[in-house]
Amino acid sequence: VQEKLEVLKQNTHNSVNSLLDTLALDLAAKVDAKIANGETIGLLEGIPFGIKDVYMLQGTYTTASSDLLKNYKSSYTATAIQKLLDAGAIPLVKENCDSFGHGSSSENTIFGAVKNAVNPELVAGGSSGGSAVNVAKEYTVFSIGGDTGGSIRQPAGYNHIYGFKPTYGRISRFGLMAYASSTDCVGPLAKSLEDIRIVLNVMSGKDSKDQTSIASTEISEEAIATSPVKKVGYFKNFIESDAIDAQVKADFLASIEKLKAKGIAVKELDFFKSDILVSTYYTLAMAETASNLSRLDGTNYGNRIEAENLIETYAVTRSENFSEETKRRIVGGNQVLSQGFSDEIYLKGLALRDQISENFSKDFAAVDIILSPVTPSTPPKIGDSLKDPLAMYLSDAYTVGFSLGQLPTLTVPQGTSTGLQITAAKNNDELVLQFANFLK
Ligand code: GLN
Repeated sequence: VQEKLEVLKQNTHNSVNSLLDTLALDLAAKVDAKIANGETIGLLEGIPFGIKDVYMLQGTYTTASSDLLKNYKSSYTATAIQKLLDAGAIPLVKENCDSFGHGSSSENTIFGAVKNAVNPELVAGGSSGGSAVNVAKEYTVFSIGGDTGGSIRQPAGYNHIYGFKPTYGRISRFGLMAYASSTDCVGPLAKSLEDIRIVLNVMSGKDSKDQTSIASTEISEEAIATSPVKKVGYFKNFIESDAIDAQVKADFLASIEKLKAKGIAVKELDFFKSDILVSTYYTLAMAETASNLSRLDGTNYGNRIEAENLIETYAVTRSENFSEETKRRIVGGNQVLSQGFSDEIYLKGLALRDQISENFSKDFAAVDIILSPVTPSTPPKIGDSLKDPLAMYLSDAYTVGFSLGQLPTLTVPQGTSTGLQITAAKNNDELVLQFANFLK
C-alpha cells in the first residue's frame, strides 16, 4: 500500500484526483496487525484498489472531475464500495475521469487530460480513464469504474487490460453519481480475468437502496474453467464499415480465425447502423443527464456563485461550473425532452431502444456470444478529440448498443489495438467469463 501510494503521489499520468493516504495506511495497519496475530485473512484483505471519482466514499472528495463539485465531500458510502471495504480491500485513490462520465477520452476534466498507459501522448480513453491507467501501470491492483455507454470497456481496451460491464442491476448503483440511470453500471477493471471475477462477486447483489438492482449467484472459479459456448456471432456492418481502423479490423479477424480453428462456429449477424446506435444512445443519455444534473444548482451541493437573485444564482453557478461538454449535453437533453420535440425525438429514441433490444433477443436465440472490437478507431492524440464532439460520439459506436440492451459485456486484450468485446444475453454474466477464460 505504501509503495503504491508513493508512485500515485507522483501522478505521472494525471490519473489521480485525490489520494486516500490516511485512510489507506490506517486500514493497511489493521490488516498487518491481523497477520501479526496469526489470524487468517480474506481474499481481498489488504488488496489496494482505486475508485473512479464519481463514487461516494464517506469523508472523501467526490468531484466527478468538475468545478461544480471540486470541494464536495461524500456524506455516505456507495454500496459497491462498502462491500469492498467489508471484504478488507484498501482504497488508495479517487481517479480522474471525464466530468460526470461525459466523454470518451478523459480530457473533459478539471484535473488535466489522463495519459494513456501504453503511449502517454495518446488519450487514456474514457470516461474511466484514470482507473484504466492505474490498473495498467499497476498503481492499483484493480479499480472500480462506471460504464454508461462504454466507459469501462473503452479505456480498458485503450490500455490493454480487462474491464467488465455486468448486466444492468447486478451491482447496486447506490452511491454512484447518476449520469444516465437506465444504462449506468458499476464494474471492475483489472489485469487478470480472475481478479475481475473475484471483485465482481464481492460487489454483486440486490440492494434495498437501489430498486433496479437484481439478485445473482456467485460465479465460482470452477464454473468458469470450462466453456459451453459453441456458436458466436458478430455484426457484419461493424467490421465492413469504412470507419474501422485497419489494425482493429485485422486483430478482430485474427481472433475470429483462431476461434474457428478451435472448433467454434461463427455466424455473421445484421445490426443497426452505427449512426442509429449512437444517436439513440446520445438522445437518451442526454435526456437522462439533463434531468439527473438539475439538482446541482449550488443550493444543496456545489460551488455556489451568488448573484442578484435566486434564478441568476442558479444560472451563474451552473454556467461557470459545468464544462462545455456537460453544458452541451444538458442543453441537448432539455431540448429532446421539451414540448414539441419530445414526441419527435425522445419517444422515438425509446422506441428505437426497444427495437435494438428485440434485435439482441433474436441474435441470442441463434448464437451464445456476440463478439465485437471495442472501438472502430485507435486512441487519438491528446487534444485532438476535443476539436470534434460528433467524431468523439461516433467513436462509441461499438459499445453503446450493448449498453442500451443492458447486457453483460467484457473487454479482453486483443492483438495490438483496442481489445475484443465479449457480450452475452442479459444475466448470462457467467457465460461471458467462461468464454473469456476459454480464449486465454
Ligand atoms: N462516451 C460515452 C458518453 O460520453 C460513454 C460514457 C460513459 O459510459 N460514462 O456518454
